[in-house]
Amino acid sequence: MNKNSFNFLDRIDSLNKNQTKLFDLIVIGGGITGAGILLDASSRGLNTLLLEKKDFASGTSGRSTKLIHGGLRYLKELEFSLVRKVGKERAIVFKNAPHLIVPQKLLLPIYKNGTFKKWQLSIALSIYDWLAGVKKNERKKIFNSKKTISKETTLNKEGLIGAGFYSEYRTDDARLTLEIIKTAINYNAEPYNYLEVKSIKKLNDIFYVEAYDSVNKLSFKFKSKQLVNATGPWTDDIRKTNNTISKEKICLSKGVHLVMKHENLPIKNPVYFDAPDKRMCFAIPRNKCTYVGTTDTLFEEIEKTEPTANIKDITYILDAINNCFDVPKLKLNNVISSWTGLRPLILEEGKKTSEISRKDELIIAQNNMISIAGGKLTGYRLMAKKVVDLIVKNLNQSEKCFTSEIKISGSENINQTNVNEVKTSFKEKLSEIEIQSNDLDYLFHNYGSQLTKIIALLKSNRYKSIVQAEAHFCIMEENLYYPLDFFLRRTSKLYYSPEKIEEEIILVSPIFSKLLNLNSAEIKLLINQLLAYKKRLTNFTDD
Ligand SMILES: Cc1cc2nc3c(=O)[nH]c(=O)nc-3n(C[C@H](O)[C@H](O)[C@H](O)COP(=O)(O)OP(=O)(O)OC[C@H]3O[C@@H](n4cnc5c(N)ncnc54)[C@H](O)[C@@H]3O)c2cc1C
Repeated sequence: MNKNSFNFLDRIDSLNKNQTKLFDLIVIGGGITGAGILLDASSRGLNTLLLEKKDFASGTSGRSTKLIHGGLRYLKELEFSLVRKVGKERAIVFKNAPHLIVPQKLLLPIYKNGTFKKWQLSIALSIYDWLAGVKKNERKKIFNSKKTISKETTLNKEGLIGAGFYSEYRTDDARLTLEIIKTAINYNAEPYNYLEVKSIKKLNDIFYVEAYDSVNKLSFKFKSKQLVNATGPWTDDIRKTNNTISKEKICLSKGVHLVMKHENLPIKNPVYFDAPDKRMCFAIPRNKCTYVGTTDTLFEEIEKTEPTANIKDITYILDAINNCFDVPKLKLNNVISSWTGLRPLILEEGKKTSEISRKDELIIAQNNMISIAGGKLTGYRLMAKKVVDLIVKNLNQSEKCFTSEIKISGSENINQTNVNEVKTSFKEKLSEIEIQSNDLDYLFHNYGSQLTKIIALLKSNRYKSIVQAEAHFCIMEENLYYPLDFFLRRTSKLYYSPEKIEEEIILVSPIFSKLLNLNSAEIKLLINQLLAYKKRLTNFTDD
């Protein structure tokens, strides 16, 4: 694969070439776990191939709460070492991907009869800051009710005692996954989306993996010395494909998020609040919207690719909002989009999904395939290190992990302290070409330094609108084939500005047709697929 052309143009040639190689490692699954393993292994010099059956981050890794967080709720469950580990990881991800990670102060309101008493929250947040190694000037504050209301006027005042105010980080989970994969390409990694693993065999110490390319409708066979199963909710399915399953290891918990216009829930900071049943939910302002979640219910359906929200899930979240916020009552028709994800949890008999630990676990099959499941988006780097340390040992090698020092794609010349400066320089460049971007924040946090390339496309006068230049960039450099993936995972526009999609499709369709050589019937099919998906984001089932 050409390092500068991560796209579909030479896909079949590069797949054919890769069929002839013996890889050190094949990773199955292109979510955050697989992406982290790909970067760690390839940066240690391992010849690594990644196979993802749909789009990168199309599983759980594009459907999370999108927080890089230490997990305050784990403190409640006394999981100190988990809090310490993921807390420290926050700082590393922020250092290496400062455009993708946005520091945020969260407000946690304290109510009479709520989850926390004021003194409890004060102690918990102090421990939380200490475990995560939070800098002195960013440590928690505890407010009285008056100060709390001045910070967040939308809160329900009845029974309000005060609030905790503490640091977390927001991200875009799908873009973080993709940028990690793009970073791995610099170390000669070979990642492919739309290649589904169909069979696994092991002969004479070599794994033979057959995968189906759903875009070109072709099968390919690859070989490797080591094999990792990083398929999250599908972990047990791949263990079955590998014929080595003794008992199921994973149970799935469904989590729904709803998106509404910011004017309907005009919060200034993210709020972490009690639902009526005392579970805690997040409300997070983003891109002129606010999203709120999540639910946590056992998921037992067979089809895991597109889990959907039902009316019960929606009612739960709307009730939680209407209970905590003093805004005109939110109803179903205020929901402009939604997403539903499945947490792959390590099965613990007799426990409710909300009680199961979010720890990760390695499962090593008799033929030595390594499955990794559980964990958090935030802890992806440590999970990857654990897996790759084992692989390096299996290969009798000794290269050490250095991913804590690897800057993630899009962060060139950006660091934690110059974010505002870089944003201003992009604003000036956009106004030079007479583009007044109201979306500078979105563009910067989506593409980071790669915004230079998008501006260059606009400057060359080839495109008149930013969305066209974005589509060109994503097709040529982010292995984009489907318009749906552009609007969903490359730009999140389906979530935060669904009302503009019809207009923007007209602008970008000719670019998909031209760059990917699609005829009018093919492009029509892809657009219909996108529009049908858009409908589903506000169409909720009854059961
Ligand atoms: C509602 C919700 C909120 C969350 N919020 C947070 C949060 O705010 N912060 C945080 O740190 N964590 C959060 N998490 C947890 C986090 O999102 C997950 O731990 C993480 O995304 C799991 O990633 P993964 O790569 O293991 O799985 P996935 O992202 O699901 O990736 C597995 C991939 O394997 C692919 N695959 C499956 N079968 C095959 C096959 N046969 N061949 C090829 N590929 C295959 C799938 O298509 C999929 O893309 C949340 C989870 C949920 C559900």
